[in-house]
Amino acid sequence: MEKSRIFLSPPHMGEKELEYVLDVFRSNWMAPVGPHITAFEEAICRLTGAEYGVALSSGTAAIHLALILAGVERGDEVICQSLTFAGSAFPVLYQGAVPVFVDSEPGTWNMDPGILEEAIRERQRQGRRVKAILPVHLYGMPARMDEIMEISRRYEIPVIEDAAEALGSLYKGRHLGTDGLMGILSFNGNKIITTTGGGMLVSRNRQLMEKARFLSTQARDEAPHYEHSQLGFNYRMSNLLAGVGLGQLSVLQERVKARRHNFRKYQQYFRELKMRGFHVRMCHEPTGFFSNRWLTVILVDPGCCQGVTREKLRLAFGKARIETRPMWKPMHLQPLFREAPCYGGRISERLFDQGLCLPSGSALTPGEFERILRVMNSVFRAPVTGRRAFKRHETVQIAGNFGSAPS
Ligand SMILES: *Cc1c(COP(=O)(O)O)cnc(C)c1O
Repeated sequence: MEKSRIFLSPPHMGEKELEYVLDVFRSNWMAPVGPHITAFEEAICRLTGAEYGVALSSGTAAIHLALILAGVERGDEVICQSLTFAGSAFPVLYQGAVPVFVDSEPGTWNMDPGILEEAIRERQRQGRRVKAILPVHLYGMPARMDEIMEISRRYEIPVIEDAAEALGSLYKGRHLGTDGLMGILSFNGNKIITTTGGGMLVSRNRQLMEKARFLSTQARDEAPHYEHSQLGFNYRMSNLLAGVGLGQLSVLQERVKARRHNFRKYQQYFRELKMRGFHVRMCHEPTGFFSNRWLTVILVDPGCCQGVTREKLRLAFGKARIETRPMWKPMHLQPLFREAPCYGGRISERLFDQGLCLPSGSALTPGEFERILRVMNSVFRAPVTGRRAFKRHETVQIAGNFGSAPS
C-alpha cells in the first residue's frame, strides 16, 4: 500500500470545536452575527492584551480594512516587507496605493529597520505620501518591533503588524499585533489555529475598531431602512466559524508547544548533520523573541552542504509523498509587483533560493518524523571527503551573514 501523504501544515482539530458548532445549529445563529463572534473577539483580546478585536472573513480582509482606517488612498505609498505571502501586499493594490518593498535582515528574516528608514527618507524626499508601514512576523518569528516602532514615531507613520502566522508568539513578553496602531491575525486552514478561513483586526484604538466593525458589515448608517453614506464591505466572520475558533483557541498553547517541539527535533538532527559536514541553517530566536515556530524553515546552501541544493531535497521529499515548500517568493520578484519600488533585496532573494519549509503540523507523529529523516539521510550523503569539506564550509559561513546554530 502507498504511504499516506505528509502535509506541510494541516488543520488540527481539538475536542471542543464540534460542541460550539452544534450550539450554533441549535440556537440558529447561522449568520455573520451572534454570540460566538463576540466571545471569540474577547478571548483573543484576553490572550493577546489587545483591547479591541474585530473578527473578519480573512486576514487579507483585515489588512484591507487596516489600510483604509490608516487613510491609505489612491497614489499613497505603503512600506511592505518583500519576503512575505502575497496576501500581505495585495490589499495595498485594492486601495490603488503603491507598495514599496523593503528587504529582510538576516537575524529574524523580517523587515530590516535600517533599510526601512532609508526607504522612508528617500520616498519623502521624492515628495511621496508614505501612509503606513506593514512589517510581517514571518513563520511566527517576531520582527524587530522596538526599532520599527521607533521609526514609526519619528516619521509619524502608523504601523500595521501582519501577525497572520504568529498567534502565540511573543516579543519581549508581548503578543504580536499589539505594538503597532493595528495588527492582523489569520485563521486560514494552514495557520497555527484555524476557522477554515478567517481573520481578526486588533487594536487599542476604540474609534478605529468601531469604524472597522461598521465598514465590515456593509457600512449601514443608523436608520430603519438601509442607508449608506460610505463604501462598505461584507468582511465579517460567520458565527459558525467563530465557534470553531473558540474551540481552537482553547488548544493554542498545546499547538505552540507541538510546533516548537518539531523545531527542536529538526534542530537536533541538523546539529548531528553538521558533524557529518552538512551545515543546514535555521532561524534562531534573538534574546526576548519567542516564536510559535508555525513552520520550521531551513536554509540549504550548496556551498555549506557539499553541493546539495534546496531543490534536490524538495524533490526527494516529493517522491516520498512528503510536502515541503520553498520559502515565500519575495514580492519584488513577483510579476504582479514588477513596477513597485524596492529597497535592498539580496537577503530575501538568498533566503528564497535556499529556504525550504519542512512539515511542521502540530499533529506530526514520531513515525512521520522518521520518514522525513530517512529522506534527509538519503540526500545528505554526498561523498564526504573528511575534514576538508568541513573546513571549506566554515569559511563560507563567516563570509555569509546568517546566524548559525548555537552549539
Ligand atoms: C495567511 C497570511 C495572510 C492572509 O491571511 P488569509 O486569512 O489567508 O487571508 C497574510 N499575511 C501572511 C504573512 C500570511 O501568512
